[in-house]
Amino acid sequence: MLAKALRSCVRWALDFALPPRCAGCGTIVADVHSFCPDCWKQVEFLMGGCETCGIPLQATDLNVCAACLARPPRIARTRAAVAYDDLSRSLAIRLKYGRKVAVAKTMARYMAPLVGEGDGRLLVPVPLHRTRLWARGFNQSALVAGELSRRLDIPSDPLALRRIRRTPPLKGMSPLQRRKTVAGAFRVRDKAAIAGKTVILVDDVLATGSTAEACARTLKRAGAARVELVSWARVVKPSQLMR
Ligand SMILES: [Zn+2]
Ligand SMILES: [Zn+2]
Repeated sequence: MLAKALRSCVRWALDFALPPRCAGCGTIVADVHSFCPDCWKQVEFLMGGCETCGIPLQATDLNVCAACLARPPRIARTRAAVAYDDLSRSLAIRLKYGRKVAVAKTMARYMAPLVGEGDGRLLVPVPLHRTRLWARGFNQSALVAGELSRRLDIPSDPLALRRIRRTPPLKGMSPLQRRKTVAGAFRVRDKAAIAGKTVILVDDVLATGSTAEACARTLKRAGAARVELVSWARVVKPSQLMR
C-alpha cells in the first residue's frame, strides 16, 4: 500500500520534473501529452464522417452512411480519434505492453472531444479475459477509460462487463465467423449498474467492430438504454480517408 502510494508520488514528481515528450517519437515538446510538428503531420485524425458509425462519408451520403440507414447498428455512435497506422499503432503497443500512463493520457486527450453529450453516461472499457489480464497485469482500455473519466467527469466502471470466454484473433475471419466467435463471450456483472444508462465502450484499436458489437449486444440485453463507442485508432481503408 505504502509502496504503491510512493510509486504514484514519484510518478507525479517525474511528470513535473521532466519536460513533456512527443507521444510519437519522444522529442521534447512544449505541450504535455501532444505530438511534435513532424509527428503531427503524420497523424491521420478522423473527423466528420457518418453520424452513426463515424466512417468517412461518400459524396452521395447525407449525414448518415447508406449502410447505417439500411441497417442501424447496435452501437448508436462510433468514434475513433485517428486512423490506424504506424504511428497510432506504436502508441497502442506502448500502452498495451508498457502500462504507459502518459500514453493513456495522450489518447484520452484526443478521444475526449469525441464522446457524445447526455445524461446517465457510463464509461466501460472493452474487457480482457482474466487469463490475459493476469498475464499482462492491466487492461489497456481501462487505463484510457480512467483518463477519460477524469477529463470528462463521467464515471468509469472497468468491471461492468466481463469477458467470460477467451477468443482467438478475429483477423482473417469472415464477418459470420467473427460474429460466431465472439457471441456469448461477454457478460454484465451487475445489471442494475447499467440499466437505463448510455454506456460508452472504450477501446484502444477498432478493427472489424465485431468485438464491440458483441459487447453492445450483451449490454443492451442487460438493460443499457444506448451503447456508444470511442476508440483511439480505427482501421480504415486508405480509400476511406478524406484528404
Ligand atoms: Zn514526434
Ligand atoms: Zn454509418
